[in-house]
Amino acid sequence: RAKSEGRGRLRTFDAAMDARLRERYALAAELREAIPRGELSLHFQPQIAAPTGEVVGFEALVRWHHPTRGLVPPAEFIPLAEENGLVLQLGEWVLARACAEAATWERPYKVAVNLSPVQFQSHDLPETVWEILLATGLAPARLELEVTETAIIDDMDRALNILRRLKNLGVTIAMDDFGTGYSSLATLQAFPFDKIKIDRSFVSRLESQPQAASIVRAVLGLGRSLGMGVVAEGVETHAQMRFLSAESCDEVQGYLFGRPMPARDIPELRRGGDALDAADGGSRSEKR
Ligand code: C2E
Ligand code: MG
Ligand code: MG
Ligand code: MG
Repeated sequence: RAKSEGRGRLRTFDAAMDARLRERYALAAELREAIPRGELSLHFQPQIAAPTGEVVGFEALVRWHHPTRGLVPPAEFIPLAEENGLVLQLGEWVLARACAEAATWERPYKVAVNLSPVQFQSHDLPETVWEILLATGLAPARLELEVTETAIIDDMDRALNILRRLKNLGVTIAMDDFGTGYSSLATLQAFPFDKIKIDRSFVSRLESQPQAASIVRAVLGLGRSLGMGVVAEGVETHAQMRFLSAESCDEVQGYLFGRPMPARDIPELRRGGDALDAADGGSRSEKR
């Protein structure tokens, strides 16, 4: 009897797992169609210079408007796209879209684009980025690429090679979600990042956990000594902002300053002027 009960449980488990797998398959298949069907879009979240309060750039965050499931968060579909290789195509779409969008902005704000580790391990990434910059006319200095620690620890030599080639194009590189991965201080020293983004989890615990404050201070010190700017992610309260300002954090990003939104809903991003004007900080002629 024990044996048959065991089998029964196994069957239920199998069925549940089967359903989950089928669900994932279905979602992955639908994701393949999402780009041609125009279901993907980008939202932009402002990045603010902490000392002045000025907007300096926007991070592009991908959104999937599924016809029946509604808005599917990137945390659900990016991992799927990474598993089946679709992330290369998706990532290229995001890059092209973000650069094309930024090239229409009246002011020369930077645009930050997230790269999947899979993209970062592809040898032709620098060529892809270069072709997109040429096609959109966006000045390379206005593009920032965000990579995570997992993108570099797999194959450090390859990652370093790709990073150097990217920097030679004139784009800047930020280490995203710093503190959540496994890279060492030696890694950080070996890689010429322009910026470190302190993960939201440390910022959100600033007020409740003294250790979080110590970690944030340590990362700020690390950034200063390595000559890298430090950005705090997920700033939601004035108290967090006061702490970060007092500790001379360079940039902040979070709901306190703005949620990710479609470009057309962001007042700072009035259209007008072509890419060259924008890169010059030029034409304000179409200001409403
Ligand atoms: P991330 O790059 O670290 O982006 C920051 C995430 O934190 C975004 O979530 C943003 O909406 C959210 N956030 C910003 N400020 C606050 C705040 O004050 N409070 C809270 N609670 N959250 C805040 P989102 O858009 O859901 O993206 C999640 C992750 O998905 C991103 O983390 C990034 O790793 C990935 N992702 C998003 N877009 C892309 C993309 O185009 N390509 C790739 N490869 N990954 C992407
Ligand atoms: Mg990011
Ligand atoms: Mg992050
Ligand atoms: Mg993240």
